[in-house]
Amino acid sequence: SHRITLGPLVAAIDQGTSSTRFLVFNSKTAELLSHHQVEIKQSFPKEGWVEEDPKEILQSVCMDRTCEKLTQLNVDISNIKAIGVTNQRETTVVWDKETGEPLYNAIVWLDLRTQSTVERLINETPGKNKNHLKHKTGLPISTYFSAVKLRWLMDNVDEVREAIVSHRAMFGTVDSWLIWCLTGGKSGGVHCTDVTNASRTMLFNIHTLDWDPELCTYFGIPMEILPRVRSSSEIYGLMKICSNRKSGALSGIPISGCLGDQSAALVGQMCFQDGQAKNTYGTGCFLLRNTGAKPVMSDHGLLTTVAYKLGRDKPACYALEGSVAICGAVVRWLQDNLGIIGSSEELEKLAASVGTSYGCYFVPAFSGLYAPYWEPSARGIICGLTQFTNKSHVAFAALEAVCFQTREILDAMNQDSGIPLTQLQVDGGMTSNRLLMQLQADILCIPVVKPSMPETTALGAAMAAGAAEGVSVWSLSPEDLSEVTSEKFEPQINPDESEFRYARWKKAVQKSMNWEM
Ligand code: ADP
Repeated sequence: SHRITLGPLVAAIDQGTSSTRFLVFNSKTAELLSHHQVEIKQSFPKEGWVEEDPKEILQSVCMDRTCEKLTQLNVDISNIKAIGVTNQRETTVVWDKETGEPLYNAIVWLDLRTQSTVERLINETPGKNKNHLKHKTGLPISTYFSAVKLRWLMDNVDEVREAIVSHRAMFGTVDSWLIWCLTGGKSGGVHCTDVTNASRTMLFNIHTLDWDPELCTYFGIPMEILPRVRSSSEIYGLMKICSNRKSGALSGIPISGCLGDQSAALVGQMCFQDGQAKNTYGTGCFLLRNTGAKPVMSDHGLLTTVAYKLGRDKPACYALEGSVAICGAVVRWLQDNLGIIGSSEELEKLAASVGTSYGCYFVPAFSGLYAPYWEPSARGIICGLTQFTNKSHVAFAALEAVCFQTREILDAMNQDSGIPLTQLQVDGGMTSNRLLMQLQADILCIPVVKPSMPETTALGAAMAAGAAEGVSVWSLSPEDLSEVTSEKFEPQINPDESEFRYARWKKAVQKSMNWEM
């Protein structure tokens, strides 16, 4: 049997862009006891469109399997005292509160269907300024955020329009959709979100920490369809689950933590101090730096976002964020669209077989470019090809692209804050690629540090849930945790070499933005 000091357990739902995980942690040691993961199908119905099925997302919350594994470890499910939710941010769902049915697919954050709307909105602002709403939202006007996706649904989907007219529509990011469903859905589900998710909608004022009537008017969004905004750590409601399911014992357990995935990773990496930062490599790549109680506005193309608010009476903490749209997604593309690898694990071997891109540069601007450029019309390019170039070089260039994009974000972050980071804390699915981690250290010229427990996003959500008032099984001080072990990748190449390659990369980026000219 399992010999561990079992403290109270806390579970987390980690609903990402490419998969969903349900995990259970021991709050005494932060040890991961049991988890299960289910892939999510993404559909691309038209060029630039990315959708997921909200019902599939709900069903992918694989509580039964994780509970089964716990039972096999002789751990009683009733030890679980709270559940946290963390999720892909910005992805937009509208559903009917009377039938409980989604009214359209979820429009995924990467989706570009609103590009012409965004261009029109920017053109209508004084001075064609994409930062017109930044003083309130911390964000540039972009296809990325929920408000324009919601606007599109209202303009193009009859069912959505009709549900709004008849006061049956509910809007939410994926956290809201899941919490509403899991707390009872059409029979009394709780319609809420947390400040971190709300801060990605473009309808939320990051200073007042509430929905902003002017922004709602600007986008033409009726405020009654919006969820109630709560802190990231408080009891939102209790789980309601069919008693004949394996996870039926979770019924009645409070859902008491909610954070957008990047905020959750910041918490899970214990970046509670002003100046601490982490970079998460998933479908996209997101570098967040804690700026404390003060929202700092970037002069270098970064976003200002709510990092967390860990309790109703606790202050909000803010972060500067560099968002990169395509990171792990390029791996999926090499696999599904080009077929040069059979699985994401194969990429490392293929790239390592050459150890160089041989002068090939790959800018995966599939969804335009996010930070620091915010250029929706950019498109992907692969350049510097010769007769000698083969698929291994392209594979290597794809990994390098991830590293160069992070370098651009890190440079912007260092310039904004004036205090350069001396090492980079990393996590996310793609960090299992050791070649990538070494390349990243080489290209940043600083060490890259990866925790040995990779599920930091889920850990952050579990910590928030366990620390909530009325649950209080987890205090949020890092000293409580058993020694956090990590692996460090030191830069190994000459900085001149690194600068040379980075300068070439920047040229390639310029071409991706002007490739039509
Ligand atoms: P998300 O939260 O966005 O769903 P994850 O953190 O789960 O993302 O990471 C999944 C991504 O990481 C996928 O895009 C996948 O292609 C990529 N990935 C996973 N393992 C590897 C690997 N060994 N090498 C390169 N990429 C990988």
